Amino acid sequence: MSPYLRLFRRYLREQGLPVTPQREAVADTIFTSSGHLSVEDIELALRGTGERIGKATIYRTMEILVRSGLVEEHDFGEGFKRYEHLFGQTPVHEHLICLNCHEVVEFQSPEVVRVQEETARQHGFVSTRHRLEIYGLCSKCQASGVELPDEGLTCPVELLH
Ligand SMILES: [Zn+2]
Ligand SMILES: [Zn+2]
Repeated sequence: MSPYLRLFRRYLREQGLPVTPQREAVADTIFTSSGHLSVEDIELALRGTGERIGKATIYRTMEILVRSGLVEEHDFGEGFKRYEHLFGQTPVHEHLICLNCHEVVEFQSPEVVRVQEETARQHGFVSTRHRLEIYGLCSKCQASGVELPDEGLTCPVELLH
């Protein structure tokens, strides 16, 4: 069981929300994973440990976790959200997202951080955070002959409009 579960319990109590074994199991799944999990991934992981928890409960728990600041939510343009916990993570990291196998790779770039600060300064802005997502094909998919899906040619965010 993740040591961070304690923080989630405390948050639930502070908010006057019930601390249920289901909520704890969902939170534990995300806290013990280093990945970027979808609700479906979480459901499968729980099933693997013999827990049967419905998607609605997982969604609601993820909403609470995001509100608590313990988990970050990502929209990589796949039509669903992904979640990662914020412990032991490098505070600033960017994402590469494969449009074929949906692998998410994290990387750090002092250069990107520098550009954020410089751009903010030029616009008289004080910046707190930024988000950079690079979409394309991972090396494994390229090696297995996968071709870039059409939506890879436009910004996935633009396709939503
Ligand atoms: Zn791939
Ligand atoms: Zn990440």
